[in-house]
Amino acid sequence: MVFSKIIGQPKAVKLLSRALVGDRLAHGYLFTGPDGVGKTTTALALAAYQFCEARDEARPCGRCGGCMKFASGNHPDFLTIRPDGAAIKIDQVRGLKKDLRFSPFESGMRIVVIEDVQTMRREAGNSLLKILEEPPPDNLLLLIASESEPILPTIISRCQVIPFVPLTMDQAATVISRLNPQLDSKEAHALAVLTSGCPGQVQALHSEEVLNLRNDCIQAMLAGSQTDAGSVELALDLAGRVAELKDGLDTFFDLLAIFFKENMVAILCDGEGSGDGEVDTARESWNLQQLSDMVQAVDSARRGLAGNCNRGLVCEVLMLALLAR
Ligand SMILES: [Zn+2]
Repeated sequence: MVFSKIIGQPKAVKLLSRALVGDRLAHGYLFTGPDGVGKTTTALALAAYQFCEARDEARPCGRCGGCMKFASGNHPDFLTIRPDGAAIKIDQVRGLKKDLRFSPFESGMRIVVIEDVQTMRREAGNSLLKILEEPPPDNLLLLIASESEPILPTIISRCQVIPFVPLTMDQAATVISRLNPQLDSKEAHALAVLTSGCPGQVQALHSEEVLNLRNDCIQAMLAGSQTDAGSVELALDLAGRVAELKDGLDTFFDLLAIFFKENMVAILCDGEGSGDGEVDTARESWNLQQLSDMVQAVDSARRGLAGNCNRGLVCEVLMLALLAR
């Protein structure tokens, strides 16, 4: 399968596979959907297949000249356009127009991937529209757009639109584990929930450091301390590390809240053990009210930071609330 690595996008894979097998590719596709669900990965899989000089029906060979050049980022018939700063500029589209005047150099088809099409302003968009209206032969344009901003309707009307959707949590966790083999299954699942089924967004979350701290914090809470003084010392120590997270702090709060809420759901759903040591210990340690209080403590810390309260103090108050209750 050309798209065997694409998880959770059956509709997109079916549409593209059919077109590939029947040699009926359109000249322009628009992949739409949230960030991090596999749009660019799919475009690259399609390009890899097209550039292989010895492909069979199933996949590129990975060894021929075409495959080697594409893998090294040096295929002369593969072009990528990304926003220059905040948006794709008209000069970039003009440059593309010039490139398209020539026939593909080595393969039967040139492939152009244009990322973040939604950033184009009207002028650049209209210039791209002219290309889409009279596409030079042997060129395939793959436009990729997130749903954050609307796209010019005229561009949409000139492309075949392929919608991409968020993955299920299990699918997202599978992708996250594959991309980050150092994570255990609990961490992958927590990140799947955190990204709402858009696993490609994980890289932006500074996950390793944040995950370590999330794990240390939960383990400390579950282990408890024999003495009040020990709890306070541990809480202040963790608070110091949390305060240093900078951009990762929101993610850390999210991960804690997800853990508490998952335990609330587990308590509400059944009385049986889940087989997950962390969750089962949590259910033995805390009741619904305590878990609810912990969620509120996290929310309160979030509000404190939004209101410009002292960062170190906010983290200390939170960790004391969680560990030295
Ligand atoms: Zn090949």
